[in-house]
Amino acid sequence: MKPLKLKSKLLYLLFLVGFGLVVVGLIGYINIQNIKRSMDTLYFGSLIPLNELNAINSAYHNDLASPIYQWNHQLLSDEQAGAKILEGLDRVNHLWTSYLAHDKRPEEMAYVNFTEVQIKSIENYFTQVRSIINDPSRSHPISLITMDENIQSIQNTLAQLIAYESAAAKYEHSILLTQYQNALTQLLFFLGVILALVMGLAWMIFARIEIQQQQLIESSETLKHLNLKLEQASYTDSLTSLFNRRYFNVVYEREFKRSLRSNTPFVFMMLDIDFFKQYNDTYGHLQGDLALQAVAKILKTTLQRPGDYPFRLGGEEFGVILTDTDCKNARIMGEKIRASIEHLKIEHKGSKILPTLSVSIGGICIIPTVDMSEDALIHAADTNLYAAKERGRNQVVFSNKL
Ligand code: GH3
Ligand code: MG
Ligand code: MG
Repeated sequence: MKPLKLKSKLLYLLFLVGFGLVVVGLIGYINIQNIKRSMDTLYFGSLIPLNELNAINSAYHNDLASPIYQWNHQLLSDEQAGAKILEGLDRVNHLWTSYLAHDKRPEEMAYVNFTEVQIKSIENYFTQVRSIINDPSRSHPISLITMDENIQSIQNTLAQLIAYESAAAKYEHSILLTQYQNALTQLLFFLGVILALVMGLAWMIFARIEIQQQQLIESSETLKHLNLKLEQASYTDSLTSLFNRRYFNVVYEREFKRSLRSNTPFVFMMLDIDFFKQYNDTYGHLQGDLALQAVAKILKTTLQRPGDYPFRLGGEEFGVILTDTDCKNARIMGEKIRASIEHLKIEHKGSKILPTLSVSIGGICIIPTVDMSEDALIHAADTNLYAAKERGRNQVVFSNKL
């Protein structure tokens, strides 16, 4: 259930990132198209027309006025001057037609039309001049002053149109700049929004991952704890909560080998409650169980070092393994256990040696050698236990060799 939720959240995130990229791309595309259109308008609508108007301006001077001056100084023949005027008029016409072909704003048309009328009138003037120059029977000279006035007049008109086109170019440029700024702002805004959304969603996902991780850690802790309990249960005797026979087998083998390696004494004791059959017969099985628990408690309280292991081997028999304990102290520990149980003073009318519960202990303390079998030690402890029973019970019999 939860991992699915996480998956769908991740899908949202991917979808959001994809959607964001598409939106930002679209906005970018539209803005770039707008800017391109503005640049075209600026370039073809203002800058090229400006060039053409300037070219017309200089054509009047260089291609029309100049040949007439040259003719006047007899640097050109009549035919040459006539041809030059024709060329000049053609050039002006050609440039003007090209200028008219560009898109014109409605408010611009008044200037354009006025200029066209002027251009036509100047064309008429130069056509007349040309026919005078090419007329061999001409009666009056050509007034250069009139020509200069005409040229001046058309150049003034053109200057107005040029001024208008320049102003329009500046205006187009300001529009271009505004569009550029808008595009940048829009892009930054949408990028910001998408980034914030993505970060928010990612934060939610990470928070969920963290919660799930925590839950996982907690579950694994619980599992570890349960495992430990289970392990302990499999090593524990349920009545006395001492280690059981199964764990005795593990510890016995392990500690025996350790002593063999480290050349240190290995201590093993067997305890058996005296006349326990009679105790059960006298006080009942339940009371017998309580007595077993009392003996177990003495073992637990007496043997508290990390290397001390008390076991219930079965029935009313107990075992003790001591590591890191020398033989003198082992014997003392055995005696201490025996005395402690006697001092409990648990009534035992069925006992033939005392009015209270007692135990007999058979122990062995030996530094193992490779030729020694593990069973031999158990057998020796058992023999000593038997000897303790034989010698009158409620006593400890210990030996230091097999
Ligand atoms: P000895 O002094 O020679 O050891 O005599 P004993 O009566 O203790 O020896 P025996 O082995 O004949 O008797 C052991 C008795 O322990 C028999 C059984 O009823 C009793 N017993 C074994 N397990 C349990 C147990 O879990 N609870 C109780 N209450 N009694 C148990
Ligand atoms: Mg017994
Ligand atoms: Mg017994």
